[in-house]
Amino acid sequence: MRPEAFPESIRPHLVPEPSGELIYQCLGCGATYGIQRLLYTCPDCGSVLLLVDPDFQRLRAISGEDWHRIFDHRKMLNIPALKGIYRFHEFIGPVIPLDSVVYLGEGATPIVEANDILAEKVGLRFYFKNDGQNPSASFKDRGMASALSYIHFLIRSGALSEVLAVCASTGDTSAAAALYAAYLRPAVKCAVLLPHKKVTPQQLSQPLGSGAAVFEIPGVFDDCMKVVEALSERYNVALLNSKNAWRILGQESFSYEVAQNFEYEMADKAVVVPVGNAGNITAVMSGFLKFYEIGVIDALPKIIGVQSAHADPVYRYYQEPDPARRKFVPVSVRSSVAQAAMIGNPVSMPRVIRLASRYDGAAGERRVFFVQVPEQEIMDWELVANRNGHIACTQGGESLAGLVRARKQGIVSPTDIAVVDSTAHALKFAGFQEMYFEEGFPEDFEICPETALINRPKLVRPGGLDRVPEPGSPLTGEDFERFISLTTEEIARRLDLKKN
Ligand SMILES: *Cc1c(COP(=O)(O)O)cnc(C)c1O
Ligand SMILES: [Zn+2]
Repeated sequence: MRPEAFPESIRPHLVPEPSGELIYQCLGCGATYGIQRLLYTCPDCGSVLLLVDPDFQRLRAISGEDWHRIFDHRKMLNIPALKGIYRFHEFIGPVIPLDSVVYLGEGATPIVEANDILAEKVGLRFYFKNDGQNPSASFKDRGMASALSYIHFLIRSGALSEVLAVCASTGDTSAAAALYAAYLRPAVKCAVLLPHKKVTPQQLSQPLGSGAAVFEIPGVFDDCMKVVEALSERYNVALLNSKNAWRILGQESFSYEVAQNFEYEMADKAVVVPVGNAGNITAVMSGFLKFYEIGVIDALPKIIGVQSAHADPVYRYYQEPDPARRKFVPVSVRSSVAQAAMIGNPVSMPRVIRLASRYDGAAGERRVFFVQVPEQEIMDWELVANRNGHIACTQGGESLAGLVRARKQGIVSPTDIAVVDSTAHALKFAGFQEMYFEEGFPEDFEICPETALINRPKLVRPGGLDRVPEPGSPLTGEDFERFISLTTEEIARRLDLKKN
């Protein structure tokens, strides 16, 4: 649909012009910095930064209902820059002109309701939001679209020329970074650091296929992160980890889409996300808070952060009920099927602490919760979900296992409606499913496959056949008919089919 066809009252707002200002704000000392240069930590005190819009309240000049109308009508436009995360331009990156937006099909991911069988097992109605249906098959594309649109903007305005984008990754950040960098070649090149043998073959294939320089490092993600931090401190590179505040901004789109999907009614909703480096939960809290402050939503949903017992520093921090006595202690991670969240020292911890407290404060009650789940439940719930029509990854299984725990602990009630973040596509983590089905998990995972959930291919090779077809030498005549007939009978016998 063309802008001319829309109601006059919202027409001036439909296609946004760059507006406002964004600045980096340090979460340690409060100092602020302009966005003309790429900055990841405070030059003064070294703490992490958030991007803030000093005149954010100007957005209140448009009523909540008009914002609904604007976002809902933008959905119908055929302007690529407004099809993804920048549908929420004023909230995602108001300073970015639309012709700098890099759109590769990210965002607007499906929200799929659980069937009755699954809802009953879990104890409430819930939906998966399938962020595996992003272009590189994880939610990381949301943040990468934001970070690379900003870099593209700097390149187009002449402030930057050649960029080497770098990141450490548990697999998905590097897939997304390499994809978006490849689109902006030759101005942007990409190098990624991965923990050796700690990303899946599918994840490894992604940055290789996008043409990035791929380095594998001994150790776990936290070790890679330290190397990348050292690189970004000593050399002229653009850091694309979620330490980069532009990533957080883009990932807020998840919350905006959830709000829009439920007609902006958030009071009875609970949003469940897996927590690794804690960039995603930071963004999810920040997104809902911003919509709430401007009156786009009139209630804040519950937020439930989920961690595996094998990588649970955030959960442990919040185990202490008295905020004054909480102390953050990094953990040493153990093998986890939620490998993309297998992080012991999350970079965004100061952001989580700040935003969770602001979130609860704005809601007037506790609305942010953390639960811990065993590896076994992560795998079991992923498989159960997928047997009921979903495409959840292991982190999606972790989220669902977390929802089940939250229900048992009374954090969510049977009348709440949950939105469970499946942060990547099941196919990226097919190797864990295979280990489960083949009963081949190394002991350190602490996963014992349940027979009822195992599924394996069955080779059908009826006895009494002299020859079977092979590529390049098909069967013919009587041999072929005998092969078809015996194979058919064998399958019918195994499936216990009735003759018609
Ligand atoms: C990165 C990632 C996570 C963890 O997100 P954080 O922002 O690091 O907390 C979870 N699931 C998947 C699939 C991921 O790629
Ligand atoms: Zn500072």
